[in-house]
Amino acid sequence: MAEELNPRLVAQRQLDVAAELLGLDRVQHKRLREPQLVLEVSVPVKLDNGRVEVFKGWRSQHNNFRGPTKGGVRYHPDTNYDEVVALSMWMTWKCALLNLPFGGGKGGVRCNPAEMSTGELERLTRRYTFMISPIIGPERDIPAPDVFTSSQTMAWMMDTYSILKGYTVPSVVTGKPLDLGGSQGRVEATGRGCVLCVREALKHLGIDPATTSAAVQGYGNVGSNAAILLEEMGVKVVAVSDVFGAVTNPDGLDTRKLAAHVQKTGSVVGFPGSSPMPGDDLLEMDVDVLIPAALENVITSQNAGKIRAKIVSEGANGPTTPMADKVLHENGIFVIPDVLANAGGVTVSYFEWVQDLYHFQWDEDRVNKELEKMMVRAFAEVLAVAREKQVCNRTAAYLLSVARVARAGTERGIFP
Ligand code: NAD
Repeated sequence: MAEELNPRLVAQRQLDVAAELLGLDRVQHKRLREPQLVLEVSVPVKLDNGRVEVFKGWRSQHNNFRGPTKGGVRYHPDTNYDEVVALSMWMTWKCALLNLPFGGGKGGVRCNPAEMSTGELERLTRRYTFMISPIIGPERDIPAPDVFTSSQTMAWMMDTYSILKGYTVPSVVTGKPLDLGGSQGRVEATGRGCVLCVREALKHLGIDPATTSAAVQGYGNVGSNAAILLEEMGVKVVAVSDVFGAVTNPDGLDTRKLAAHVQKTGSVVGFPGSSPMPGDDLLEMDVDVLIPAALENVITSQNAGKIRAKIVSEGANGPTTPMADKVLHENGIFVIPDVLANAGGVTVSYFEWVQDLYHFQWDEDRVNKELEKMMVRAFAEVLAVAREKQVCNRTAAYLLSVARVARAGTERGIFP
C-alpha cells in the first residue's frame, strides 16, 4: 500500500508533526508511535451451510496512560492490522482532546457482513469476544460499535463477556441497546457532535446556516444522523452517498425520509424525489459543508485540489491523507479534524460507561447538553491553539492531545 494511504504510517506522521512542534521528549515520542498491545486472533465460525470459515481479527490498545483503552470494533472485508492500529491511535488523541479518562483502542474483524446471516454474525461476534476477553473489561478496554457493527453486536459482546464472568457486566462495552444499559442519545451522538462542530465553524466564519448547503458521504450511523441534524439546523442537504451510489436534490433531500428508505431498502439509491449521481462526484460538489462519513483515505492528493466546500467536518476517521490536508489548508478550507469532529460518539460512550458503573440513567436532554458543552469547549480550545501557533486545526488538536497524553506518561514514569 502506498505510504500516503497506509493509515498506520499516516497516524505516525501526524504524531511526528505534533511531536516536533511540541519538542516532545524522545522517550514519550517513541512510546506513542507504537501501540502498547495488539492481539491478533483467528476466529473460527460455523457458517449456516455447515462449513467452518476462519476470520482474522485484531484488538489494538494504543495507549492507556490516561485510563482504560476505548474504541470501536469494525467488521469490513478490507480491515487489517495497520488500519486497526491507526484507528486505536486516533482514539487516544480523541479521548485526550475531549479530556475523557480513556486511552485509545480499536478492534476489527476482516469479514463481509453484507454476505453473512444474522446467526453467522452472532457466532462471529461471540467467538471474537471470547478470544479478546482476556484483554477487555470495564477497567481495561471498552469496545463500541464502528463500521458495520451495531448496538446488537454490542449486546452479543456484553452477553458473551458476562457469561465468561458469571455475572452481568454492562460497562464492558458501550453503544448497547437501551434495555441493556445503553445511553440515551448514543446512536445520534457522533453525528450530533459532528454537526455541533459545523455550527461552531459557521459561527466562527460568520455564515448563516440557513444559507448553506451540504453533501454527506456515507449514510450509516454517522452520516445519516449528521444529515438529519444539519437539516434541523436549516442547512440544505443536497447530496448523500453510500457504498452503492449517490443521490442528489438541489432543493434539499428529506433526510429523515431518506433514513427510512435506507432502513427499508438497504441503500440511498432509488430514493423518491432524488436523482442518481456518481458517488465519486459528491466530494467535489459546490457545497458549503462537506461531511465525509464513510471510510478513510477518500480525500487524497488526487482530489484535494478539487474540493470546493468551505468547511470539511470529518465524521469518518482518517478521511484525509496528510498530502491532501496540506492542499486543503493552503486553499483556505476550514477542516474540522476527525479527532474533534467525530468525538461525540466516544463522549457519549463515556457517559454510558459512567451511567453503567453507577447504575444510573440520564435523560436524553442531559446527555445532549453535556455533549454540547464538551464539544463546544474542545472546538474552542482547538481554534485558540490554531490561532496562537498559526497551524491548521488538525495540528492544533494534536498539539493539545499529544501534550496531555505525554504529560500523563511522564507523570506515571516507567515500570520497573
Ligand atoms: P456504518 O457502517 O453505520 O456506515 C458506513 C456508511 O458508509 C454506510 O452508509 C456505507 O454504505 C458507506 N460506505 C462504505 N464505503 C463507502 C464508499 N466507498 N463510498 C461511499 N459510502 C461508503 O458506519 P459508521 O458507524 O457510520 O462509521 C462511519 C465512519 O465514522 C467510520 O470512519 C467510523 O470509524 C467513524 N466513526 C464512527 C463512530 C460511531 O459512533 N459509529 C464514531 C466515530 C467515528
